[in-house]
Amino acid sequence: MERQELIAKLNNAYLLKRKRAEFFAEQNKQKALENKEYFKLELKERELVLDISKLAFQDKPTEQLANKLNQIDSQKHILLTQIGLNENSLMPEYTCKLCNDTGRVKNEYCTCFKQAMNNILMKESQINLDLIPDLAHYETAIFSEKHKTQIVKILDLAKKLVANFPNSKIQTLIFDRQALFVCIVHNREYRMSVYFQVSPLLYV
Ligand SMILES: [Zn+2]
Repeated sequence: MERQELIAKLNNAYLLKRKRAEFFAEQNKQKALENKEYFKLELKERELVLDISKLAFQDKPTEQLANKLNQIDSQKHILLTQIGLNENSLMPEYTCKLCNDTGRVKNEYCTCFKQAMNNILMKESQINLDLIPDLAHYETAIFSEKHKTQIVKILDLAKKLVANFPNSKIQTLIFDRQALFVCIVHNREYRMSVYFQVSPLLYV
């Protein structure tokens, strides 16, 4: 799948995810407002918020009304529990708290979006990650004594990179000719995959 096609497909999936979360929240709000007592409290709350804003604007004390507002909040909470809802269920429950299922954070792709892209690419590649050995299985014994020390050091660095991925201070690993290898490291805990590839430009 082309990158643009992949992004468009994910954008649609994310839009659906958001709409679904917003739909359920809206449905719960309607359910709460069908309760007459809750509806009255909601109106009273709006009035109080307006009155408090006016008083604050006039630099007058707002404590009394603020106390009433707190009481209304508590009453609403009790009513919601009786209806079988809570305050959180009135808000959209997005699966990613970082991007609220928009897939973007500060004009960059969110990590969840990048991971979703990777998952599709990995699925398309038909590579079965469960069959791929990880760094714990890396066999250093096959190397000659001359190179083994170096390999062990590289392996140690690679393990550190994976353990702290994606927040590792190590961003790039460049191996020397004898140690060049291609491997995919799958971090099962974070469901992330790192692809190490030989760079032909490094061959001299
Ligand atoms: Zn996200």
